[in-house]
Amino acid sequence: MIPVSDRAASIQYAIRDVVVPAMALEAEGHEIIKLNIGDPIAYPGLATPPHMVEAYKDSLSRGESGYSPSYGLAKLREAIAKDESSKGWNCAVDDVYVCHGVTEALQIIFAAILEEGTKVLAPGPHYPPYMAYPQMYGAQTIEYGLKSDEGWAIDFEDIECKMDDDVRLLVIINPNNPTGNVAGKIEINKLLAIAEKWPNCVIVADEIYDGLDFSGNHVSVSSLSKSTPVISLNGVSKVYYAPGWRIGYMALHDPLKVMVDLRDGIERLLRSRLCASTPAQMGYLAGLESNRSWMESHKSKVKSRRQLCLDRIEGIEGLEVEAPGGAFYMFVRLTDINWAVDDKAFVLKLLEEEHVLLVHGSGFSTQKGAGHFRLVYLADEATLNIAFDRIDKFLVRHRSAKE
Ligand code: PLP
Repeated sequence: MIPVSDRAASIQYAIRDVVVPAMALEAEGHEIIKLNIGDPIAYPGLATPPHMVEAYKDSLSRGESGYSPSYGLAKLREAIAKDESSKGWNCAVDDVYVCHGVTEALQIIFAAILEEGTKVLAPGPHYPPYMAYPQMYGAQTIEYGLKSDEGWAIDFEDIECKMDDDVRLLVIINPNNPTGNVAGKIEINKLLAIAEKWPNCVIVADEIYDGLDFSGNHVSVSSLSKSTPVISLNGVSKVYYAPGWRIGYMALHDPLKVMVDLRDGIERLLRSRLCASTPAQMGYLAGLESNRSWMESHKSKVKSRRQLCLDRIEGIEGLEVEAPGGAFYMFVRLTDINWAVDDKAFVLKLLEEEHVLLVHGSGFSTQKGAGHFRLVYLADEATLNIAFDRIDKFLVRHRSAKE
């Protein structure tokens, strides 16, 4: 047997791990309602806009299948810099690095910054790669708390307590996955006030859901930072509805020029992995450069599906939720003690008996996510209603069976 590294053997990605039993059921001929994956394309009515698809196809037709520059196509970097600048900070073309999605940007950032013994401070619960990847570089992810009974707002006291010189990255996911919390100007300023006391620390601002803010409070972290270095992350996956294109970016905001060496390391890593997909970059460029009025209709669909879920949850005994301010997730609390103590058992049993697929909350944080599940509310109204009918039936059945 060829040995596998500990690093690979310990990786977990809850969102896709639950797909394994779902596939087994599908192989037996069952149809599964999948509310587990944050992919708008998996649901009706939220297609990638045609002008972006055309631009991608046109690029292929012109034969643009070659490698492109390692930091991204010049035109795309320009369009991203303009877009980021419109969010309130001075983003230059050279501040932008195009990657194979935010996911690759994260791997590059971690590889460029983390060393044995260093730490990443990330919200708990959080999108799983923030926990999985840092350990590959000998670093450790420490969670700071989100307040589960206050709309999952950031617990700043907890951040203060956990900051030290080994914390190299302070992560904010805004709007948050999995809770949907949106941090506004006051909160971002508090975060910056803490970070500015720690000269080794860079803020990672994952703003991939910024165009799906229903609270009206979202603000770019870079736009408020006067001294703290910030790496803003965004891309085509969520707000432009094209996650399979695998295009995202990091934009470096460095008011005091403390990231010069880090920038060099990032550029070396980017060159060593060649480039991001060339025609997909052209598709994203079309999205950035064309009229974006189409986004409103996509967003209003997402918003009405959000409302349906809130209304349904309100009427189901055994569920509670803090209304999310953005993104397309709800982090739902299981109030029945039988399930609150084992959210994974709830998800697996619901899948087995009712063929509805959710993700267990503990997959987003063993401690802070326990007793919850994450629901993606992108499915059409009819599908969501069927899913909630089944969840309700399941909770009733097991409540009476267990009492
Ligand atoms: N960041 C967050 C917070 C996410 O929720 C996701 C996907 O679900 C990603 C990044 C992945 O981004 P990309 O598709 O650009 O790799």
